[in-house]
Formats: sequence, structure tokens, C-alpha cells
Amino acid sequence: MDIGIDLDRVRDLIPRYDKPGPRYTSYPTAPVWTEAVGEDDLRAALAERSTSPLAIYVHIPFCRSLCTYCACNREISRDVSVADDYLDRLAVEAERLAAIGPPTRSAAVAVGGGTPTFLDPAQLARMCEILDRHFPALLPAPPDRRTGTSGAGSERSVEVDPRTTSRDQLAVLADHGFDRISLGVQDLSPVVQKAIHRVQSVGETADTANAARELGFASVNFDLIYGLPFQTLASFEKTLDEVLALRPDRIALYSYAHVTWISKQQRGFERKDLPDASRKLAIFSLAIERLCGAGYCYLGLDHFALPGDALCRAADDGSLRRNFMGYTTGGDQDVLALGCSGISELAGLYSQSLRSSVDWAAALDAGRLPTLRGWRLSEDDRRRRWLIQRLMCQNEIWPDGYAERFGETLEARIPDLEEKLAPFLADGVLVTTPSGYRLSAEGRLLMRSVAMAFDAYLGDDGPRFSRTV
Ligand code: SF4
Repeated sequence: MDIGIDLDRVRDLIPRYDKPGPRYTSYPTAPVWTEAVGEDDLRAALAERSTSPLAIYVHIPFCRSLCTYCACNREISRDVSVADDYLDRLAVEAERLAAIGPPTRSAAVAVGGGTPTFLDPAQLARMCEILDRHFPALLPAPPDRRTGTSGAGSERSVEVDPRTTSRDQLAVLADHGFDRISLGVQDLSPVVQKAIHRVQSVGETADTANAARELGFASVNFDLIYGLPFQTLASFEKTLDEVLALRPDRIALYSYAHVTWISKQQRGFERKDLPDASRKLAIFSLAIERLCGAGYCYLGLDHFALPGDALCRAADDGSLRRNFMGYTTGGDQDVLALGCSGISELAGLYSQSLRSSVDWAAALDAGRLPTLRGWRLSEDDRRRRWLIQRLMCQNEIWPDGYAERFGETLEARIPDLEEKLAPFLADGVLVTTPSGYRLSAEGRLLMRSVAMAFDAYLGDDGPRFSRTV
């Protein structure tokens, strides 16, 4: 399928749109949050909840070695016993959080990092037992008498590093209900892998994907990154060939974020080794054409899935959402985070935990909830968040839908909207439709810039964000 991106047009637009800007995994974005919103706010939000099921995110910060492109919260160690202390505190945190508010089940569990498979099989089993004790899985609804189909039960997903993942670890996770797996792949070119300090053979990737499928994982995702040092169109096309031969159910294709003020090890890359904005977009559009041509649906900013996958269904029925884990299917489900640096997203509240595992453990040992910072959403935040979600998940600005939902016109909320959208319309980034505006094929590559038109917090205070291209 050709989705019709005109690369020459995109190249013309780059000088105007390649500026620092958020990825909008939350709104307001994390740099706006404040330490004034903390433990008491998290307690209050949990206490006010109903018994509706939660999504649980568990952060495992440890990795065996450092990938030089990494901007995640991770701690490098080769001593697996550090995870025993971490799990001791995770059990305390889970018990403390579960005791606030009414008992609730988990509709989804996502374990990320760091590297969750840093944990050995016994430690993984212990992590699952902690979750099952405090946030038992939502059971599938009984089969419908007419259709014979069961209602959805809990989904459990895990991020793995194929270089450090064994069949035994996957078997433990499968035994505890994990049915979705995400493999860090990034790029399969040996030249790029050497530069990013992540040497991972096609065989290791294939073995992990195949073992997961044999053990019953229903969905296999690959994470790829474009914009890495020494990437060329030809080298990434070869990576895509090798990836497509393994036919993952989902592919997340992230833009490399060069944020040297956050991730100092990225200073090891020379600027000249990185693809410039024009080559980056050429690689991205090549990937879009190849993946769509191979039958994948293009969802939101950077996700692809085979037809029939839950992400495609969520895009069709309007329940696709974007949060700090990327695109998800859970609609407006509350997320409760466990582990250092985890971000909870409860009705009206963002709350992030302390970033370092040492500080996080010390707060738990002192009897506290280990919060670092957070944000209570105002009504204005909620309305702008809805607009940004709609743009990033459905590629549209929908004035009638906004008015129906919030009882006011879009112009009443953002009086200079016409002025803000005019350049996007003039450049063909947005096109008008009978119900509002839609991102054009080229505009989908620049959607972060359009989303910034709805952001009330953007200032001129330095490079807090990666560039939007
Ligand atoms: S394995 Fe992932 S989290 Fe760990 S250093 Fe590499 S990119 Fe970062």
C-alpha cells in the first residue's frame, strides 16, 4: 500500500518544522510537573477510585550494559542479586498502594525498563507473585451464549532484550499469563550496532521471537529506531527486510532522540555521524512505504500493526490512546506504576516516582510513597489533552466532537486557533475535511509540531525536548 508521501515536499518543510518539541506521551508534559504534587495527591487519587480495573506498569531499571543511544531510566549492573533487594521493595510498594482505596484487579500489566529480563527465572516468578497477590488479573467474562466468544481478560506484556533473554525466563512469564512481548531490536546493521554499543545478531532476535511464539505469546512487537549514527537508506532497508522476514505482529519505529543534556553518553556520537533531518525523514518514509506495502497498518506517529491486531481495532473504534508507554489499547484506563521512575496516570493526576532505585528504596523504607513530582490536571489541561490525543491517535482535529463533549466551541478555548493552524494549512500539513481538519500524508510525519499548537505551556526556555524531525 502506497500512502503517498511526497518526500520533496517534506524536505521543503523541514527548515520550518525541525524544532525542539514534546513527544506528547502526556499532557502537560513532564518538564511542567512539580514536586509540590506528591504523596498526598497520589493517596487521594487512589482513595477516590472506584473498583474499576487498573493497568499496572512495573519498571525494572537494571541493564547489563549501556547502549549509547539510550535515554531511558536505567542502572547498569552485572550483579543479578541487586534485583532481590529491588523486589523486596517492590513488594512493599505494591502492598502499600493496594491498601489505599478499594480492592481492584489489573486489566493490563506492562513490565518495562531498563531490562525486565535482567531478572533471572526465579526473580521473574517472584515479581509475578507480587502482582498476583496485590493486583490479581481481571478474569475473562464468561462466553456469550449466542456467539460463544469470551470477554477479554487481562493482557500482560513485557519488554525484553534478546541478548539476555532465555527460554526459561519466557516460560515463567508465559506461565503467569504474559501474552505480549516486545523485543528491543533498534537496527540490525553491524556498523550501526557497533556505534550504539548494542551488538545483537538476527539469529538472537529470531530465536527470542520464535521461542515466545512457541510458548504461546499471542503478540510479538519489535522496537526499531531511525536516526541512529551511520544509518543509511540502504542499511535500514536491509534491516527492514530482515525484520519483515520474521513478521512481528507490531512494530514501533521510534525517532532517535538526541538529548545530550539528559543522556551524556550520547556525546560519544559526532553530529556528523548522525543522519541529518532530511535523511532521517527519508529513512522514516521508506520504512512507512515498506511496512504498509507488507500489509501493516500505520497507526499514529510511529506504530505499525498487522490487520486484526488489537491496536488496529482500537484505532478503528476510537479507543487508541497515547501514554508514556507509547500507543495503547486501554482507552481512558487508569495506570498505576510500581518501581523507580514509574509514572502513574490516574483520573486527573500524573505522579512520577523517584528516579534512582536507591532513593526510591529509601523512601519506601521510611514508610513513604516514593513520589518525585506530579501534576493535577485543570479543566483546561483535560480539554487540551483530549485535542492532542485525538490528533496523535486519530490524525484529526474535530471541532464538532470537541463542542459536543465539552459544551463550548474550539475557538472559545483557543481564540487564536485559526491563526495557529493557518501555516499548517498553507503548507499542506493539514487539510480541511467536512468535519474539521486532517493530517495529510506528509503531515503525519510532522504531527508533533501540529500538537504544539494546543500546548499552553511551551516557552522559550532552552532545549528541554528532542527535535520534532
Ligand atoms: S537495554 Fe534498553 S534500557 Fe538498557 S541501556 Fe540499552 S536501550 Fe537503555
